[in-house]
Amino acid sequence: TLSDRLSAVFTSLRSKGRLTDADLDKSMREIRVALLEADVALTVVKAFTQSVKNRARGSEVHQALNPAQQIIKIVNEELIGILGGETRRLRFAKNPPTVILLAGLQGAGKTTLAGKLALWLRKQGHTPMLVAADLQRPNAVQQLQVVGQRAGVEVFAPEPGSGVGDPVKVARDSIEFAKRQQHDIVVVDTAGRLGIDADMMAQAAAIRDAVNPDEILFVVDAMIGQDAVTTAQAFKDGVGFDGVVLTKLDGDARGGAALSVRHITGEPIMFASSGEKLEDFDVFHPDRMASRILGMGDMLTLIEQAETVFDAEQQARMTDKMLGEGDFTLDDFLEQMLAVKKMGPIQNVLGMLPGMNQMKGQLDQLDDKHFDRITAVIRSMTPLERQDPKLINGSRRLRIANGSGTTVTDVNQLVERFFEARKMMRQMSSRFGFGGGGMRRS
Ligand code: GDP
Ligand code: MG
Repeated sequence: TLSDRLSAVFTSLRSKGRLTDADLDKSMREIRVALLEADVALTVVKAFTQSVKNRARGSEVHQALNPAQQIIKIVNEELIGILGGETRRLRFAKNPPTVILLAGLQGAGKTTLAGKLALWLRKQGHTPMLVAADLQRPNAVQQLQVVGQRAGVEVFAPEPGSGVGDPVKVARDSIEFAKRQQHDIVVVDTAGRLGIDADMMAQAAAIRDAVNPDEILFVVDAMIGQDAVTTAQAFKDGVGFDGVVLTKLDGDARGGAALSVRHITGEPIMFASSGEKLEDFDVFHPDRMASRILGMGDMLTLIEQAETVFDAEQQARMTDKMLGEGDFTLDDFLEQMLAVKKMGPIQNVLGMLPGMNQMKGQLDQLDDKHFDRITAVIRSMTPLERQDPKLINGSRRLRIANGSGTTVTDVNQLVERFFEARKMMRQMSSRFGFGGGGMRRS
């Protein structure tokens, strides 16, 4: 899947302490292929990789992140951007009813969506009504009635056996009816064809003109991949629309339609449908979709936290110390501990770091009380002792223990842990480049 391909790219970057132009080019090529294979439209892929590359070269990003994390951050933000950035909400009419027209190919999921929307709106206190303006297929009206019943809303349809086959008239009449019955929202279901078809477009346009919709939603099956783009373009030209609903996201592992449709049509994706049940429906959140495509929710959380906690200067200073010989002091140790503590429960933080699980056991005991004790012990040391912990002999240990209200064993443990930590940090910084000082290119 796209997520797997992208994580492979990032994994190969992760081992690098610094990123060369060649590394960056290689990653961009891999990302490009991954997107194309996921059926993302070529123009979108080009625009996407170009802006990721520009930003990565500009190295505008946070100093607390290593190269892989920086690229992940940029890719994530660009994905969110291409998916539309912010969620767009429904626009309600000043004078009810608000009219929502559904358009799209047959099988796209319009009728199902009508029910989902109705239920969702009803739960928010609205009194929606559904309109059966698909008179093309014999069962279409009945299907909408079933869906409406499940959602617990009224369905406006031509009288059975009345012989009325004019969807435009049904749609027009439905608005008057909704006003009389005080429905504040009207959702109009229309007919689709299996392919793009001039008659279908003309009918949808005629219904549009009859009901003067506040929102026209283009409904598209995410599983049709590249075809989503051509279909969207045809509906844009033939009927016009204000928003997109992606359906069958439950079956789409690739995310291609989602990534293309917004960029190509310029209209926002507003809702997402992800199953046959009426509850399988939600407002579309570009950031959640991006994180799903990236498949790196935990890493993104970690990046966010690292950015807020580590101030770049402090970080650069630490890194130099960790990499240098012997000048990482107990003061630095304390500062580092307090920074880690600010990031939240230590187990969570470590769980998010790649390859850190083996260290978890050692650090599990580091609860808040422990932090406080460590702070007390270090603060009872003289500046010289903090600079050079090797000075701390037996008599000094006793003095420190008494001064901090702890025991000699506590002091011993702390000093030991400090030496261990110093060793561990050096290993870590050479293995993962974690905490490395920004994007350095050679
Ligand atoms: P319409 O022709 O556009 O009105 O499409 P329908 O609403 O009749 O849906 C066509 C088929 O797709 C039906 O079998 C639905 O149950 C199914 N369907 C609709 N939305 C979804 C979805 O989000 N996920 C899945 N798995 N199936 C869906
Ligand atoms: Mg239908």
